[in-house]
Amino acid sequence: MNWVYIKDFKEHVGQQVTVRGWVYNKRKSGKIRFLLVRDGTGLVQSILSKAEMAPEEWEKFSDLTQESSLEITGRVREESRAPGGYELDVDSINVIQIAVDYPITPKEHGVDFLLDNRHLWLRSSRQYSIMQIRNEVIKATRDYFYENDFILIDTPLITGSIGETASTLFETKYYDFGKAYLAQTGQLYLEAACMAFGKVYCFGPSFRAEKSKTRRHLSEYWHIEGEVAFYENEDNMNMQEDYVAYLIERILDKCRHHLEKLERDISALEKVTKPFYRVSYDDTIKKLQELGSEIQWGDDLGATDETIFTEQYDKPVFVYNYPVKTKAFYMKRNPDNPETVLCSDLLAPEGYGEIIGSSQREDDYDLLLRRIREEKLPEDAYGWYLDLRKYGSVPHSGFGLGLERTITWICGLHHIRESIPFPRMLYRLYP
Ligand code: ATP
Ligand code: MG
Repeated sequence: MNWVYIKDFKEHVGQQVTVRGWVYNKRKSGKIRFLLVRDGTGLVQSILSKAEMAPEEWEKFSDLTQESSLEITGRVREESRAPGGYELDVDSINVIQIAVDYPITPKEHGVDFLLDNRHLWLRSSRQYSIMQIRNEVIKATRDYFYENDFILIDTPLITGSIGETASTLFETKYYDFGKAYLAQTGQLYLEAACMAFGKVYCFGPSFRAEKSKTRRHLSEYWHIEGEVAFYENEDNMNMQEDYVAYLIERILDKCRHHLEKLERDISALEKVTKPFYRVSYDDTIKKLQELGSEIQWGDDLGATDETIFTEQYDKPVFVYNYPVKTKAFYMKRNPDNPETVLCSDLLAPEGYGEIIGSSQREDDYDLLLRRIREEKLPEDAYGWYLDLRKYGSVPHSGFGLGLERTITWICGLHHIRESIPFPRMLYRLYP
């Protein structure tokens, strides 16, 4: 058997090949039958002609249902009007299994039904394009950090020190220690590693018990974090801008057909070039008030604020120097205004909102210890973290990008749940 993948058809024109896959759709027209078959690498229209097939092979068509599995053998023919540019003239079919009552039909389904059937929903063409884009964003991320001399540091997923905020921690039992937490971030460990390797990054899952229902929060998401010794906040923004522009360029280059399938406005992504906008927190508040928000200086930006603010922009915008009380304990106090910290969030345009949180880190031992105490964090758990400020402390900065937030924006999705294969959310643990 000459088993080939649909994506490789161009190398097999005129040859007899076998495709192994699933029935996507079927239809009839006179003495011709059409089977749309997918194999994970693409879709091919297969043509059955009564005049040219053995009767027993022809008969098999009527039993086939959506998502039945099969091996289908035929000749590859170039056909510019077909999706993918090729068709298969079928000689024979080997039915592997007949799918009975496949629940996801070509008609419209509600999103809860689709999420309950996520294990099957992944087979649809729209989900296929989203996952292909996700795959490319991940590859581009690895390439970017490798090309720019960062070392990958895998940080622990089970931790004793709280990385962000106690309010969204998942706890688990841990031997004689009593409890441990699932990591909300790898940042504290990256700070240690950047003092050893200079430029470091990590890429793994982060866990946050988000107790409210939003379009932007998962309980488990993939987090890409970078940390660099001797970088100040300005260098940090430059690095993020460079990385995000690289991602967009790669997706436009490699995944244009998937973006088209998703009906993404590609011209909006083409505008995402360096430099991005930079607006201080103070000016952001003024602008939001002009736009009708009731936000006051000192408040964090809510989801609605991020939406109306970023609808004003055609490329990502950094909002920098937030008030101390809106941010985590480890951010460095702004020497020009101690009410604020040296930090920035990167907000995606078109109403998408935050995709990155970042800051320069507090590098002074006494100031950091004071912040740990102010936040009533368990001091013992941070002994090792404070050590970094005792043994050759230097300015350093880093960022964390949410993979799924970024994919949601790139793909132009309404909700984050479609950007990950099996989403974990407040009301969802299965499939
Ligand atoms: P938000 O205010 O939107 O909850 P955050 O300030 O808690 O975000 P950070 O702690 O700065 O976020 O985390 C860094 C990045 O991780 C965010 O910019 C975002 O892209 C992503 N992120 C954070 N929480 C989630 C979540 N629950 N689901 C998906 N992505 C998330
Ligand atoms: Mg949060």
